[in-house]
Amino acid sequence: MSSLRFLRSRCSLRLPAAMLRHYSLDASHPLLRTQGYVNGRWLPAASQFPVLDPATGEEIARVSDCGPEEAKQAVDAAYEAFHSWKRNSAKERSIVLRKWFELMMLHKEELAELITYECGKPMSESLGEVSYSASFLEWFSEEARRVYGDVVPSPAKDRKILLLKQPVGVASIITPWNFPSAMITRKVAAALAAGCTVVVKPAEDTPLSALALAELAEKAGVPPGVFNVVPCSREKTPAVGEVLCTDPLVAKISFTGSTATGKLLLKMAADTVKKASMELGGHAPFIVFDSADVDKAVSGAMASKFRNSGQTCVCSNRFLVQSGVHDAFVDKLGRAMDAELRLGHGSEPGTTQGPLINTRAAEKVVHQISDAVSRGAKVLKGGKRLDGSFMEPTLLVGVTTEMICTKEETFGPLLPVIRFNTEEEALAIANASNVGLAGYFFSQDVSQIWRVTEALEVGMVGVNEGLLSTPEAAFGGVKQSGLGLEGSKYGIDEYLEVKYMCFGGLKP
Ligand code: ADP
Repeated sequence: MSSLRFLRSRCSLRLPAAMLRHYSLDASHPLLRTQGYVNGRWLPAASQFPVLDPATGEEIARVSDCGPEEAKQAVDAAYEAFHSWKRNSAKERSIVLRKWFELMMLHKEELAELITYECGKPMSESLGEVSYSASFLEWFSEEARRVYGDVVPSPAKDRKILLLKQPVGVASIITPWNFPSAMITRKVAAALAAGCTVVVKPAEDTPLSALALAELAEKAGVPPGVFNVVPCSREKTPAVGEVLCTDPLVAKISFTGSTATGKLLLKMAADTVKKASMELGGHAPFIVFDSADVDKAVSGAMASKFRNSGQTCVCSNRFLVQSGVHDAFVDKLGRAMDAELRLGHGSEPGTTQGPLINTRAAEKVVHQISDAVSRGAKVLKGGKRLDGSFMEPTLLVGVTTEMICTKEETFGPLLPVIRFNTEEEALAIANASNVGLAGYFFSQDVSQIWRVTEALEVGMVGVNEGLLSTPEAAFGGVKQSGLGLEGSKYGIDEYLEVKYMCFGGLKP
């Protein structure tokens, strides 16, 4: 724990004694599972891979390293189970999903501990993720019963036209490490509600949350083969990914992760013309107009930038601030960073900023900072990498569009501020990107709010809000940020196909 001691002294964490409740993860943790889960059974593999606590670099578990054979077994089991799962009534599927939701809420703290230890985020955020994750099971348990087809007026008197909705089949689900639980349920809840079965390949950094979900799925009554999990190391990922994206028994792939990996999976899925949902990278602009309430903009910026230490695909990546409020915004933001951000181990009460997922992620942020500084940007707060993968929250001003941090997704606690003069200029900068996931802006001018909302080339807009995710709303991007939607009434459509029934031969 030397790195933690270092951090405590460096960041001078001062915590009231009453808050010193420590969370721990050891082998007796009630939801710690370390084998793959296929066809309702825990599956040993020939070898294991380590799961590390990103805050300390210490090994917290060794997990079965599933290979292509286990992946194939999982696909076969899911295919077999599909034929019975889809025949359950929507209400029966709904009841199972609801039970799974309730079990997640019952085990909220234990699930949150797994998230904090494998992904590094503070417990408060991990608890938030568990609620968010469970809310997809709740939402889609309700949506399961609202899959309506259509009866369409026919041009011929002797025919009826019916449009039926049916589940697509087996779905391969490939998920990232930044929301180890929620990125699974956001897909799986919709899939199971529709009548599909799934094989989940969690990120190699964070398999424990996925395996804990399997344990609770079983307790909730999810039948064998309906929900399968094949954890694997980075080395085995391409071979497992190939099975999941090319096996003819798989009808659909759903992926959340980097744009580069998404493109690779789409190419693999093309040969068998699988359906695909892709939730890929973002490069969110955060615009503060002269008409904004600056205090609200500062709160929005803090929430949108520093959640999960800046490691979410909807985190603001580029801050565009109009000249009239620039100095006030930067000043208040700097104070808020000093007052509100505390680095530390995620299990430490009071921590708001955990480590980045690994040292590579920290190196990327350092690279973006030094590139910006070499081109004239000024560091107002932070700027340095600490022990391991901890990174100081960093505020840069004098940023220009030539700098790498305004061209690439950062995925870290770097807040670069570009000063602009006109709305047109801000929109041109915001839209000069080949991705478009989220975008945020602060304004109190109603006409400007409509103009800018319509002009931003993104799938989701936060107006005077820095946080926007919720299961009731549609999550998805435009341009190279992806394909399809998650959550909302549209999320279940990703796992359904429409079958046209022409019912003829009727006597008019
Ligand atoms: P990151 O670089 O942040 O890990 P990725 O997009 O590579 O982002 O990872 C997201 C998910 O995609 C992880 O589960 C990872 O294991 C998986 N992945 C990466 N490469 C492949 C691949 N060739 N086939 C299948 N899954 C992959």
